[in-house]
Amino acid sequence: MTDLPTAGDSGWSDPDTLGAIPPVVAVTYCGHCGKSANKGNHVLCHEELAAHAPTFCTTCRRTLTVTTEGTTWTAVCKKHGETSGIVQEA
Ligand SMILES: [Zn+2]
Ligand SMILES: [Zn+2]
Repeated sequence: MTDLPTAGDSGWSDPDTLGAIPPVVAVTYCGHCGKSANKGNHVLCHEELAAHAPTFCTTCRRTLTVTTEGTTWTAVCKKHGETSGIVQEA
């Protein structure tokens, strides 16, 4: 018996998708600092985000257009639409 490499254990699928679609699709960004949510320390960012509107879209990292009305903020990503929340008074 020959010891052929098996194709079943790799994460790659069709060769024609290579280069077109990154293998990791679930990358999210920090809504406050815009850096990768998986890297670095975002403890302070999370505190900011709990109290204020985000600056960046967590999906595509576009800068959000933020409007605040009273204590409610609305952040709009051109691609991913609208998110809203409440401004927490410190
Ligand atoms: Zn951050
Ligand atoms: Zn977006």
